[in-house]
Amino acid sequence: MTDSTVRTVVDALDTRYPRNWAESWDRVGLVLGEFDHPVSRVLCVVDCVPETVEQAVDLGADLIVAHHPLFLKPVSSIAPDTYKGRIVHRLIRAGVALYTAHTNADVANPGVSDALAARLGLTGLRPLAPAEGAAAGDGRGLGRIGVLPEPLTLEKLTRLAAERLPATSAGVRSAGDPQRIVRTVAVCGGAGDSFLPDATRAGVDAYLCADLRHHPVSEHLAAGGPALLDVAHWASERPWLDDVAAWLRESFPVDVVVSDLDTDPWTVHANRDDLEIRP
Ligand SMILES: [Zn+2]
Repeated sequence: MTDSTVRTVVDALDTRYPRNWAESWDRVGLVLGEFDHPVSRVLCVVDCVPETVEQAVDLGADLIVAHHPLFLKPVSSIAPDTYKGRIVHRLIRAGVALYTAHTNADVANPGVSDALAARLGLTGLRPLAPAEGAAAGDGRGLGRIGVLPEPLTLEKLTRLAAERLPATSAGVRSAGDPQRIVRTVAVCGGAGDSFLPDATRAGVDAYLCADLRHHPVSEHLAAGGPALLDVAHWASERPWLDDVAAWLRESFPVDVVVSDLDTDPWTVHANRDDLEIRP
């Protein structure tokens, strides 16, 4: 165990999730925080938003490890009357550092999609889109493909996903024949529509990811592609927080808390079948 300061924890995170493994458009690493500040408590979150920042302040956390970047596009001001500027001021005033591991954690092995695959009990994991460039090799890549412990109909797999993933208002919806038998499954934490062709090429029976849309899904199914499961973005990436938290606890004498605050923007879901029809 090493002394825990922002610098030592950030160095270790950068070793586990090297910054040059991130996509070129991504922005990862330390966002703010004093390097010499001691770290005794860490909060792991998917999104650095006002609610999770308040959670960190209430817990007395010294560091937030977030999946999504706070700043992906350049800004010319962090004035406190802007949404993100207010977050920056709140964090600095409360002495909370902020670190992001995004596509460099997606591509890592183990990475974000391994934790998602584990929730479904998938085994024999391999990347859906093997990494190229700096991250290439050692089973790294985006998404994972694995085998279910026993074949399930799409309908049952949908229920299993709803049961095993963190609960959200959006829940889980699927596309394809509900009675289709599923043995092999591809998963991708976060928005996964760009890997629809990879899932088809891999010949899996079903592909689970977030943020799927009408036309790409219709066209994918019409072309004979695997059944699709669309889950809430937050729910698909929240399982990874347990993995990074366990590793932080093993590596440093720190208290690590995983945020279960659902930061998915969808808050209400209704089905006609759920409604009580009054005469
Ligand atoms: Zn994401």
